[in-house]
Amino acid sequence: MAARLLSGTETSKQIQAELLPQIEELKRAGVIPCLAAVLVGDNPASQIYVRNKMRACEKLGLHSEHITPPTSSTTAELVGLVQELNRRDDVDGILVQLPLPPQVDTQQVLLAVDPAKDVDGFHPMNVGALVSKRDALRPCTPAGVMELLRRHGIDPEGQHAVVIGRSDIVGKPLAFLLLHAHATVTLCHSRTRDLPAMARTADILVAAMGRTAYVTPEFVRPGATVIDVGINRIDDPALAEKLFARHPQRLEKFRQKDSALMGDVHPDVVEVAGALTPVPGGVGPLTIAMLMVNTVAAARMRRGQAAAAQRSGVAAAT
Ligand code: NAD
Repeated sequence: MAARLLSGTETSKQIQAELLPQIEELKRAGVIPCLAAVLVGDNPASQIYVRNKMRACEKLGLHSEHITPPTSSTTAELVGLVQELNRRDDVDGILVQLPLPPQVDTQQVLLAVDPAKDVDGFHPMNVGALVSKRDALRPCTPAGVMELLRRHGIDPEGQHAVVIGRSDIVGKPLAFLLLHAHATVTLCHSRTRDLPAMARTADILVAAMGRTAYVTPEFVRPGATVIDVGINRIDDPALAEKLFARHPQRLEKFRQKDSALMGDVHPDVVEVAGALTPVPGGVGPLTIAMLMVNTVAAARMRRGQAAAAQRSGVAAAT
């Protein structure tokens, strides 16, 4: 039987609709939350990500500011820019789109972001708060995965969660969030021995590696929940024919567009898993929804509505 598809598109809409009363309340107090996005250079994927984030702000009636320093920017210039955004009272959230150009020290730039405005949850203070299970701004993609599970009635408590990928942005923070939700967690990576065997022990399997269709049915215990975080673009027709051999509709779509988005999970996993997030339309939309949650929560916390923000926004992202 085909896996139940866990739609991120629907869940994302729900989460954003639930934010509207909080945004209205802020507006009544004369505050319109503002997200400032810093996009250095002209990386096409980053441009699309930032555009989608700005659009989400617009739809919710939030302010957004798109700042585009040149590719030649230095670490000092970007730190100076972030510090200026820290000082501005009208800016609630600061997002530095990664990757930054190679001459820039990314850690230094991220460290400069005021933790209270760190809507990506990358600042070491927020990372520490996450690890020690305190209320804080959570990284959006891992927080989105947790919301997706919760809203689809999948409780990690007592389950074995295997996360493949140990990045600071996805794998590592997600492992802690799953742990806090009482899962038994195994964090796998590129040096893990016999990854398929390890993955097959999972009740909840998360693929966050950036490797197209790497997780094949042999990685998946029948009935397991599979969360596909990967976003990879394929444009090779021979590869598409191979991957979509048993999925004629997806092959047809590929042919119409000459490309397709593909996760880290092989399309055939749908025949083995109990539940599966699609790509596109799975974890991706949740990341944006959680960015909106964090922006509104940051605006509320900075104005002393901390308890309320923690109840409705930040705590919901744990
Ligand atoms: P990353 O490159 O920083 O980390 C990848 C991790 O995967 C590393 O820890 C590495 O050890 C592990 N890995 C790589 N190859 C492996 C292998 N063969 N076996 C086992 N482990 C392996 O990537 P990231 O930033 O964590 O992103 C991962 C994927 O998630 C990418 O496709 C990215 O585009 C996607 N992503 C999606 C969203 C979203 O909103 N859906 C957000 C962030 C990232």
